[in-house]
Amino acid sequence: MASSAVNFKLQAESNLLRRGALQFVKKNKTIQTPGCMTYTLRGSVPHLIKDNLSLLPIEIVQISLEQFLEQRDPSSLKYPHGIHKYVNLEEALIYCDVRDPLRLSPISFNTDKYLSVETHGGVRQVTPDNWAEAMSVYRPDVVASMADTITDMEAKTKRIKKSVDRSLRWLDENLKKSKELEIPVFAPVMGHTDVEERARSAKETAERDVQGFIVNVLGLDKNQLNKHVKASTDNLPTDKPRIAYGLASPESILLGVANGIDLFDGTYAYKVTEKGRAISFKFGEELKDIAGSTEQPKTINLWDSQLAHTFEPLDTTCGCEACSRPHTKAYIHHLLNAHEMLAPLLLMSHNVYQLEKFMASIRKSIQDQRFEQDMDAFMKYYSHKKEVNGMEDHEDEVDDQSLGVHLKKKRTLLL
Ligand SMILES: [Zn+2]
Repeated sequence: MASSAVNFKLQAESNLLRRGALQFVKKNKTIQTPGCMTYTLRGSVPHLIKDNLSLLPIEIVQISLEQFLEQRDPSSLKYPHGIHKYVNLEEALIYCDVRDPLRLSPISFNTDKYLSVETHGGVRQVTPDNWAEAMSVYRPDVVASMADTITDMEAKTKRIKKSVDRSLRWLDENLKKSKELEIPVFAPVMGHTDVEERARSAKETAERDVQGFIVNVLGLDKNQLNKHVKASTDNLPTDKPRIAYGLASPESILLGVANGIDLFDGTYAYKVTEKGRAISFKFGEELKDIAGSTEQPKTINLWDSQLAHTFEPLDTTCGCEACSRPHTKAYIHHLLNAHEMLAPLLLMSHNVYQLEKFMASIRKSIQDQRFEQDMDAFMKYYSHKKEVNGMEDHEDEVDDQSLGVHLKKKRTLLL
């Protein structure tokens, strides 16, 4: 029965802080919380192949149905051996939602009958029947029920109420199928920018036989995140796990942890990789040794030309593929400039590894009852400005206009 497919045990709980373990009974696998899922694009962890993945602490990956729907008859829905085998991630636990938690582009309208998704092949509509068909073929380890997510930040109360009601109706339909398939369901807690609706959605969703909840604050005003997360989590039972969408940066993850969130979308590792950056921030015990200063950057910009002669690894304490071989900062800087695909591969390996390390130090900090102090130290030590794209203000060594045609400018290489 679905209700026993996952077990969630809280090992430590003080106020809102939670340290737990989520057990997937059928696979005999347990993930420690607070934790991060690993983000995928069309079923692949961006830039990495299976050999790289085996060296990383990846336990649960998130897969978005909308990224498989660009064809009218998606091949993934014809494949008889399930999504794990289809995407060659048989070792990992797979969490499947309809939409990509990284994107919240306003597309076309949802109706009572379907929700709209964006694919390379245009806008597609997903009905509860389509959802049921996909899940019975994919057979993920855990699934999110359909959510009528609002993308308009100015949405009126009437629209927000409708989104709450519609998501509950879809949940009831999705639940019938998931029980038959024995796949545990995490249900979206809606309410958008309206705290009363957030509370109502949480309470009504919690009355259903679901195994966990999704608290969505994607795209909401940064200064209001705390209020919105709290409006949801305050009204959820404490004995079931909660995933958050839209709390991806280290600061937001800490905010989520402080408000009782157990699992996060792991999109941050991908976002910083795309900017040519490597995570350098530390938390908890590891930060204590270096604390004292303020406004420190959280990431290293590998596009920075000052690194051209820095012959040291990204992080001497890191066990990832990029650091343990080791590859120097100068070399990764060179690879980025040469547009070599090894650059994002090394950065993604490092960033996925470091994000998991961050989560592990959060878990340790909660266990040691130091989380508040550790969070304060982190907020004081680091700069909280958004990491800009490393490419910005960067003079690319490759003259794009000269590619494939005769060199217009005279280039002299001095050796
Ligand atoms: Zn590393």
